[in-house]
Amino acid sequence: MTAIDTLGRPLRSLRLSVTDRCNLRCHYCMPEDEYVWLPREDVLDFEEVGQLTDLFAQAGVDRLRITGGEPLLRRDLPELVRQLSRRAWVRDLALTTNGVLLADAIEDLKRAGLHRVTVSLDSLRPERFARLTRRDVLPRVLAGIDAVNRAGLPNLKLDVVVTRGDNEDELADLVRFGQSVSAEVRFIEYMDVGGATRWRPDAVVSRREMLERLDGAFGEIRPIDETSSAPADRFRLLDGTTFGIISSTSEPFCRTCDRARLTADGVLLLCLYAQHGTDLRRPLRAGASEETLLNLIRAVWQGRADRGAEERVGLRERGSYIPLRVLRKDAHLEMHTRGG
Ligand code: SAM
Repeated sequence: MTAIDTLGRPLRSLRLSVTDRCNLRCHYCMPEDEYVWLPREDVLDFEEVGQLTDLFAQAGVDRLRITGGEPLLRRDLPELVRQLSRRAWVRDLALTTNGVLLADAIEDLKRAGLHRVTVSLDSLRPERFARLTRRDVLPRVLAGIDAVNRAGLPNLKLDVVVTRGDNEDELADLVRFGQSVSAEVRFIEYMDVGGATRWRPDAVVSRREMLERLDGAFGEIRPIDETSSAPADRFRLLDGTTFGIISSTSEPFCRTCDRARLTADGVLLLCLYAQHGTDLRRPLRAGASEETLLNLIRAVWQGRADRGAEERVGLRERGSYIPLRVLRKDAHLEMHTRGG
């Protein structure tokens, strides 16, 4: 039976982080020179991931998104995908990646049963990409996107975090690029999550401003009327091209959030802004019964009352959420550990 929280939100989707390591250093996520990583021995093995995801399924989950860190850094990821895709309850199995290692992995991932891919791509200009991610690898990401299409995997999405002074002048180019590679582009407002230590209000390009800029480039933009728990509001251009905007900062959507997050070391988080999580690894490794673990997952979700992004909007003064000295003491507060 589906677990329902105190605000009536059902548990439906699980973001599964498979590593906290990343091969990019995006300025809005990992801007520091050094990080404290999760101890390797704490990272769940595939059997443990399978056990826990099966319990989440019993509590309502039928959609899985594999994320990280950079999930393609996880050794043998296609094997995990193969094990997860075989489960009868999995209705949607997606991967969020920065695309750097995608070209070499996509055939194996497809064969393993992956349904779809979302690639993060914040700029089409090589020098800008290198500045924003601190790695000069745009051609590899573009090759990864090309490889997804050649492999014939449908429903490709491109996620763009828009930050002022960095890429707000590229929105139209990115939409056109999306058209050219049969991908739907989704623009994401810059969030003040843990790890975004350089966040400031004036660096946020709001949904409204994005629409104004796109309106100037393409003419009339129509909202697509649909009911969905997906975070993006979708729009259509006159030529039929669609794109999305995820307005987590200016107009958050906590009321429809049906997502739980599991970190690579088995901590259950209910909200990107959560200060604490629930450790499932310890009871799992201590031999807790399925029933005990399932009751724990259900109880945590049923007690859920958070509206993290909405509460942030209400603040009079807003700066980066978690100070660096606190992040250094607890890797679980970092966005790259939570998986976005
Ligand atoms: N490495 C993979 C990738 O790049 O897509 C997956 C992990 S990444 C943490 C997941 C998502 O979080 C990405 O789409 C990224 O753009 C987003 N993200 C990270 N920090 C963010 C921030 N401060 N504001 C908005 N989105 C953010």
